[in-house]
Amino acid sequence: MLFEHLLTRYRGLFATVVLLPISVTYAIWLGIRNRIVFLLKSAPAKHDLKVQKVIEQIEDWKQAGCKEKLCTARSGWKSMSELVPKYKLSHRNIHIDLYDILDLDEAREVVKVEPLVTMGQLSRNLLSRGWTLPVMPELEDLTVGGLIMGFGVETSSHKYGLFQFICESFEIVTAEGKLLRCSQSENQELFYLIPWSHGTLGFLVSAELKIIPAKKYVRLEYLPLYGLDDLMRTFEDESRNT
Ligand SMILES: Cc1cc2nc3c(=O)[nH]c(=O)nc-3n(C[C@H](O)[C@H](O)[C@H](O)COP(=O)(O)OP(=O)(O)OC[C@H]3O[C@@H](n4cnc5c(N)ncnc54)[C@H](O)[C@@H]3O)c2cc1C
Repeated sequence: MLFEHLLTRYRGLFATVVLLPISVTYAIWLGIRNRIVFLLKSAPAKHDLKVQKVIEQIEDWKQAGCKEKLCTARSGWKSMSELVPKYKLSHRNIHIDLYDILDLDEAREVVKVEPLVTMGQLSRNLLSRGWTLPVMPELEDLTVGGLIMGFGVETSSHKYGLFQFICESFEIVTAEGKLLRCSQSENQELFYLIPWSHGTLGFLVSAELKIIPAKKYVRLEYLPLYGLDDLMRTFEDESRNT
């Protein structure tokens, strides 16, 4: 009780002296680790093994009689959502340790990523090669998995659509423990059902996303508009002008 009172009363001090240094140290460690993995291209070799570990956890659950529901083991504090995921205490937690950029295919203009790749990580690594996502949600900690299985949008969605519209393919592991790849030409129905499905169709283990060339600076042009009709017409024209 006293501890709770002190923590609430002096929360500014606690956040400054304890939380901020921990957050900064964690962010620096993650940044260095992700950059090294991207430069060494070490993630693709380990990807299949990590997916196999996801499948093995599902096989164990099946062998134990499929008693609990399945969910990702990702802790609530890592997610952007303010929801406290109490259901994770009673569900079977599946560890999906997939944090890396797998391949940057500049010829196809596609980047292949694992689901826990964050927007900050992707933005920094793509920009270093002169690319970006057409829809890059601006909060650094949002993950590819969350933006596909949950929901993703950014200002450029006026031009390119929601986050799901920049997705070329997905790989999921189903509750049967099967690895399925889907795209517009392969398991097409599943491909269109995955966005917003919140993990109900399976665990996302990779996604291919479209990329576009990015320059260092953005040129802004201000257009004076007079009246609602003028605003709507210009807004639509500019949105369609991709
Ligand atoms: C302050 C705030 C600002 C926000 N701003 C934006 C914004 O600018 N643009 C935007 O698009 N959204 C925004 N959001 C919402 C955010 O996009 C969604 O909450 C998104 O789903 C969160 O992503 P996350 O990476 O934290 O995923 P999580 O919350 O961890 O996951 C979202 C859902 O996807 C499921 N999931 C995640 N990974 C997998 C996987 N590998 N396999 C199966 N299922 C999986 C989870 O179970 C959950 O149901 C904001 C939210 C907050 C709280």
